[in-house]
Amino acid sequence: MSDASPCTTCGACCAAFRVDFHPAELAGRAFAWAGGVPPALTVPVTAQLVRMHGTDTSPPRCAALSGEVGAQVACTIYDARPSPCREFDIHHDACARARARHGLPPLGLA
Ligand code: SF4
Ligand code: SF4
Repeated sequence: MSDASPCTTCGACCAAFRVDFHPAELAGRAFAWAGGVPPALTVPVTAQLVRMHGTDTSPPRCAALSGEVGAQVACTIYDARPSPCREFDIHHDACARARARHGLPPLGLA
């Protein structure tokens, strides 16, 4: 999710894909953004990988997401969100796939 306005009424990508990243982005670690991701919102995968809690459940939904997908949503750790979330925005190929999973049309960007 980005801070672009379509995202605040979507949130589909936060409830569609696994979100994995290096533990160095956790709170208090070397590459933490804005204080880092709270470890309590993650699950360990390997020594080199942690996952946002809820993103590998069925159906997936990130533990940091608040609100209703397709209506009004927010990332509760937006400033500290991990790198995969920072790299994903409305121009990402998988945006339309995530939205389709939730019955939402593609954004139809030019
Ligand atoms: S699926 Fe696309 S429009 Fe929806 S929140 Fe993610 S980046 Fe934004
Ligand atoms: S951390 Fe925030 S932006 Fe990333 S998947 Fe979770 S709710 Fe979405």
